[in-house]
Amino acid sequence: MLATTYRRPYKVRATHVPDPVIEHPGDAIVRVTRSCICGSDLHLYHGLVPDTRVGSIFGHEFTGIVQEVGTSVRNLKVGDHVLVPFNIACGACFYCQRGLYSNCDNSNPQATAVGGIFGYSHTAGGYDGGQAEYVRVPFADIGPTVIPPDIHIEDAVLLTDVVPTGYQAAEMGDIKENDTVLVFGAGPIGLLAARCAWLMGAGRVIVVDQVEYRLDFAARFAQCETIDFRSVGDMAVHIKKITDGLGADVCVDAVGAEADGSMLQRLTGVQLKLQAGAATALHWAINCVRKGGRVSIVGVYGPTFNAVPIGNALNKGLTLRMNQANVKRHLPRLIEHVRAGRLKPREIITHRVPLQEVDEAYHLFSAKKDHCIKVMLIPPG
Ligand code: NAD
Ligand code: ZN
Repeated sequence: MLATTYRRPYKVRATHVPDPVIEHPGDAIVRVTRSCICGSDLHLYHGLVPDTRVGSIFGHEFTGIVQEVGTSVRNLKVGDHVLVPFNIACGACFYCQRGLYSNCDNSNPQATAVGGIFGYSHTAGGYDGGQAEYVRVPFADIGPTVIPPDIHIEDAVLLTDVVPTGYQAAEMGDIKENDTVLVFGAGPIGLLAARCAWLMGAGRVIVVDQVEYRLDFAARFAQCETIDFRSVGDMAVHIKKITDGLGADVCVDAVGAEADGSMLQRLTGVQLKLQAGAATALHWAINCVRKGGRVSIVGVYGPTFNAVPIGNALNKGLTLRMNQANVKRHLPRLIEHVRAGRLKPREIITHRVPLQEVDEAYHLFSAKKDHCIKVMLIPPG
């Protein structure tokens, strides 16, 4: 089959590899119908995620048709068209039993923190991903959800990650009626977080980025105010000025590790030796929120990152919340929001690209060319 394989930083390629096979009785093999490239994939692509091995297959946002099931699978049958949450969850461990599916122990026993994630390096379990023609889905009774007939396939693929992550970003901010919510990052996650902030009662939503076309898109898609951070001197001073001297009630970090840490170095004046990128947005989120406010972090960082202004966070009495999105938990509610038209995720898809051209697709998304917001990959056939 054809699959997106990692070659080296800034280089992936569509290559021919052996088809996946059932390895455990609980597995299913799924023929991929759509997949997407995520901002999280860019961390792999930029070489920021430890133990990303040459030849591993990327992709954690996909839909597909069940091709084969293992002998113990009960909830799926051949021919089902499913969307598959990006987190791999066993359904039985301490965490899954408490509904914390993104923190499953059994799907990534060698790691202490992250659960298994499709196509996300050996740090996240070493599973092959769905930017391919076929994918092996472990614990197939737990994750995959049959796509309701009235849900468009392009919305379905975004329900595997982007929509739940944006929703959880807003939810972890514990937004109260009329709150001012400041979202860092106008990528797919920030856009959905901004949309969801309105659903939760925000009175004002502001999105920060430096990419003009993305800020324009955010203003339309999320009907929010925008700030181009290149036009602002000190971010915290600016935010105070536009919020009656207080700061935002809630800040969302929808950026994560940046390939280029130069912004943070400018901000702190410290020559930082960072392997896992820098965290300007997290820095700003802590410094721009009001005292007693909430900071919600969904941006992804490498395992060790210590340039966080934790002293400021303590002195301001902040609540910090963060996690990989718990896709399975949010799905029923989010399917209803999409069905009712309160969320229209597929509007963010700007590019539909054949899987064969995945190399160019990554480049386009990473370099923010051609007004790219979200790339969907279409397998051959
Ligand atoms: P993206 O790369 O498309 O978007 C990130 C945006 O942030 C870009 O538009 C970039 O210009 C902007 N940016 C960079 N530095 C900034 C700064 N200092 N302030 C404001 N904006 C800045 O990525 P995406 O798909 O939207 O994903 C965003 C983040 O969310 C990534 O870190 C990704 O790994 C993470 N993510 C987390 C989860 C989860 O479950 N927690 C799931 C999906 C994605
Ligand atoms: Zn993703």
